Amino acid sequence: MLVDLHVHTNISSRCSSVQPAELVERAYELGLDAVAVTEHSTFRGAQVNHEYALERGFKVFRGMEVFTELGDMLVFGWQEHIRYYLFPFADLASEVEKRGGVIIPAHPCRGEADARHRFKDELPGELLESIVAIETHNGAMTRKSNDMAELIRKKHRLFGTGGSDAHHVSHIGRCITVFEEEPSSDAELIEALKSGKYRAAYGEELYRQRSK
Ligand SMILES: [Zn+2]
Ligand SMILES: [Zn+2]
Repeated sequence: MLVDLHVHTNISSRCSSVQPAELVERAYELGLDAVAVTEHSTFRGAQVNHEYALERGFKVFRGMEVFTELGDMLVFGWQEHIRYYLFPFADLASEVEKRGGVIIPAHPCRGEADARHRFKDELPGELLESIVAIETHNGAMTRKSNDMAELIRKKHRLFGTGGSDAHHVSHIGRCITVFEEEPSSDAELIEALKSGKYRAAYGEELYRQRSK
């Protein structure tokens, strides 16, 4: 099952131009089985896209992307609207744990290319305690940055996810997560993410293989 696990739309992410209709259309075109909408600091966009897609027979998982002092975190299983720009990671971890959700550090090695981000090739212990997976394939990052994340993943025996981080329709599906099973609800997605039965991939490689 092919899922783009990190998409922004114009419903709640002002930085994105993707409309719900474009999202569904492009996902069908690429042959994706689902996408996860992860807007910045709010669950609302995911909800709106989920309902829109449901009426059209397409699956949108509901997550969000939360800014913390330890970097951006993809969150599944916590439905919130955060007014604060920077949310304390410890608070996020306890809220998500209470609800049995998962936290996945997005583009964990962005520091490689962007000096504003502290982490380059290692993750802090307090972060490692609260996660089972990191985003090793992010469609908006350089290969170098993604490769670094992959090294960290291996070193700490984490699972790796892929998501496009699309802010434009043409970027959807650049990176994806290939699940062995077929989660059909947000709860099943969370279980699947904890199980580790998936791998991250670059979309272009998969689509190329398929067209052969
Ligand atoms: Zn981010
Ligand atoms: Zn993002």
